[in-house]
Amino acid sequence: MTEKAELQSVLDRAAAGGRITPEEALDLYRSAPLHALGAAADAVRRRRYAGTEHIATYIIERNINYTNVCVTACKFCAFYAAPKDTKKGWTRDLDDILRRCAETVELGGTQIMFQGGHHPDYGVEYYEKHFAAIKKDFPQLVIHSLGASEVEHMARISGVSVEEAITRIHAAGLDSFAGAGAELLPERPRKAIAPLKESGERWLEIMEIAHKLGVESTSTMLMGTGETNAERIEHLRMIREVQDRTGGFRAFIPYTYQPENNHLKGRTQATLFEYLRMIAVARLFLDNVAHIQGSWLTTGKEVGQLSLHYGADDLGSIMLEENVVSSAGARHRSNRLEIIDLIRKAGRVPAQRSTTYEHLAVHDDPANDPVDDRVASHISSVAIEGGTAHPELKLLDAN
Ligand code: SF4
Repeated sequence: MTEKAELQSVLDRAAAGGRITPEEALDLYRSAPLHALGAAADAVRRRRYAGTEHIATYIIERNINYTNVCVTACKFCAFYAAPKDTKKGWTRDLDDILRRCAETVELGGTQIMFQGGHHPDYGVEYYEKHFAAIKKDFPQLVIHSLGASEVEHMARISGVSVEEAITRIHAAGLDSFAGAGAELLPERPRKAIAPLKESGERWLEIMEIAHKLGVESTSTMLMGTGETNAERIEHLRMIREVQDRTGGFRAFIPYTYQPENNHLKGRTQATLFEYLRMIAVARLFLDNVAHIQGSWLTTGKEVGQLSLHYGADDLGSIMLEENVVSSAGARHRSNRLEIIDLIRKAGRVPAQRSTTYEHLAVHDDPANDPVDDRVASHISSVAIEGGTAHPELKLLDAN
């Protein structure tokens, strides 16, 4: 068989629902014609969602960044401040966090992503207190937050096992993990960009523990910091292996590295074609993960639209607030009406979803679209660009 015929044969098998090997996934990622790859991935998506394959989803959420102080100093990160950096470092108090939750509810948001640095003082107790307070005042908000890295850090600070840390924050109100901190799971690229973070194996081990304790999660991949194609596929392999055992990853979300204001000098970003190829290969290779999310925040709305034809079934969140990738240069913004419009123009029916992917509102008639879109007028980024603290934020005490 020629190489072209071999690739087509693998594509046909994957499109028909057959499992492909990491080696085959790498061949497809490197060499399959782009449109054929997208068509195969779209066939898998349509079969998985037969009956609702015309729908693409989004969610309304708010990222709440509780501190940027972090001891982990990832080289790609433009958000964090070292603990001694009192000019850049800040924390957000509980009243401020609750006010942001109230705004989220008022604007129709259903989920908050509590996201921040590895603060040297924040153990399990900090998260218990904050999640309990949020759930007490806003039981309708889903707390889809944190990830294995935060769990590892808070357990170390509190001197408890990760099992205990997960059990306690789950009891306090955490609903699911957002899968933050996966970055690149293979050792070489992970050490190159996040040398102080736990290993990729440990990240997966903690996610597996969480899944077994009943806390599901999403999974992510940071593309474009110098990793090889083989390392990208290895990342997928590591996720698929855990998913075979737990079934706890609800979604896979690749996103592209943003190059501003960080310490990774001279790294190239992933191209948009590489990104689309990853969306498609993820749909084909991760046959045990239900949802593949297109990330328009880092790649742009048009690429978000294209991703819906390369295997993605979801465009993620309309963020009422986002600071982390914005600090590193992500400039794309959208609101509910725009997302509805761009999904429609991509040939799909938009639907607002819950954290667990139930359809909350299907926008199948433009005449019934929200007219008073308060989400649009409140979309904001309190971006901490160039390391300047937002005036509302409290500077840390130097001591
Ligand atoms: S990515 Fe997260 S853990 Fe790494 S430096 Fe930034 S805030 Fe800290």
